[in-house]
Amino acid sequence: MPLVDSLLTPAGDLQHKETYNLVMISNVDICIRGRGVVGGTTALLLSRLNLSVQVAGYASPKQAEDIRAYAINSKSKHILELINAWPGEEYCTEVQQMHVRSDEGEIVEFLKPNSVSNQSQSNALTWIVEVGALERKIAETLEKHKIPKLMLDMSDSVEDDSRIGKQAERVNARLTVICEGSKSPSKANLHTKTSKHPYGQFALATHVKSKNGHAKHFGNAYQWFNKISTDKGSALKEFEILALLPIGGKEGDSYAIVWSTSKERNSQLKTMSSDEFSEALCSSTKGLFDDLVPFTDRQTWPLTLSTTQAWSGSFNAQQSWVLCGDCAHSVHPLSGMGLNLGLADAWSLYEHLLTREQKSSWRDLSDLRLLKAYERERKLAIYPYVQFIDIVQRLFASDYAIYGIVRNKGFKVFNTLGALKEWTIKRAMQINL
Ligand SMILES: Cc1cc2nc3c(=O)[nH]c(=O)nc-3n(C[C@H](O)[C@H](O)[C@H](O)COP(=O)(O)OP(=O)(O)OC[C@H]3O[C@@H](n4cnc5c(N)ncnc54)[C@H](O)[C@@H]3O)c2cc1C
Repeated sequence: MPLVDSLLTPAGDLQHKETYNLVMISNVDICIRGRGVVGGTTALLLSRLNLSVQVAGYASPKQAEDIRAYAINSKSKHILELINAWPGEEYCTEVQQMHVRSDEGEIVEFLKPNSVSNQSQSNALTWIVEVGALERKIAETLEKHKIPKLMLDMSDSVEDDSRIGKQAERVNARLTVICEGSKSPSKANLHTKTSKHPYGQFALATHVKSKNGHAKHFGNAYQWFNKISTDKGSALKEFEILALLPIGGKEGDSYAIVWSTSKERNSQLKTMSSDEFSEALCSSTKGLFDDLVPFTDRQTWPLTLSTTQAWSGSFNAQQSWVLCGDCAHSVHPLSGMGLNLGLADAWSLYEHLLTREQKSSWRDLSDLRLLKAYERERKLAIYPYVQFIDIVQRLFASDYAIYGIVRNKGFKVFNTLGALKEWTIKRAMQINL
């Protein structure tokens, strides 16, 4: 069990308005920085090993609850179930069918292949999980397992991720796992470079339901790749991706929206009235949904492709670090893969440390050969996804006519190629990988 050495009170440069909880400085095997979904999951997985684990994160949510809902594949579901962090069924909705439409109305329908249906009782292609519920469940499970935490009470909503990072640096850990997301302050101090390519788009998230009555979603998810004119009469068209993801469980009648658009359109969508929003939604769904109204606030995120060069390294001869999740890579949400890739990082690190425990426990936790093996494995695994997501995004964002022909013909042909479609679905579901 971790050994808590001493208690600290805020001092020196840390005298700010925040109320600090008792900040504990410890000797531990592993310190996880960041209590997001990847950080919490990594902590719960690694605490299954014969190692002491501590988490550095916030005691209370910094902002309003995250309104997003994530598409979670079967491998991620399995990981979350294993650590008892899968939220209740009302927050996890099975997707039975996915309908994807190109800018010229070509449709690709995704259903779970029969060969996969036989392997499990569920017919779900993927699960739409409400982020607020997932974060709460992970926090509850961390509490239940009494995983020691170094925490900062953000009740006065002061945002400064670097300050808790400074506190975390005082934890004496042989291995530090950095899961601080794409804006990680700790990463900025390491010998690694991050390439960032903004997509030039922002994502808007909100929840919508039918104005008149309760039209159930029956597990249908929808996505449109549109070229739209934002100015009436203008020949200029801009690219947007709209996803309607079913939420509220099997009997649910609501959708979580992820709407990726230009910055200008994003701010219009964020501030327009409810009626105007419904109208814009009707137009972007090509009239398929004409009475959906938003019933939660609208939150937005800038979208950037980022990849980090080194995912592991040493602080000194006895202490090393690795990166997991968005801290190592972030992608466009068009394929709903970002968190799935992050959870697969957490799982891979767990497997490497488990193998060490079983077969080479003489090897120190800070040994870079061990950590580089994790890094190599994950870079190889995520590369095809990052490339694929980037190509699709660029194909649709382009104004060249030839790209228009390629994407629309591509949609048509892809829908008829059963074997390719099945292979793609299995990859996205992470089946047999
Ligand atoms: C609109 C949108 C929709 C998406 N939809 C999907 C989807 O459908 N499916 C999917 O798989 N992915 C999706 N993603 C991607 C997903 O959001 C990310 O991949 C995921 O949140 C990454 O989790 P993380 O824990 O690595 O990082 P984060 O969620 O960014 O969490 C990092 C945490 O660390 C904390 N932190 C930062 N600095 C410090 C510090 N110094 N000390 C301590 N704590 C610190 C932060 O406050 C935060 O709590 C979507 C993304 C967007 C923008």
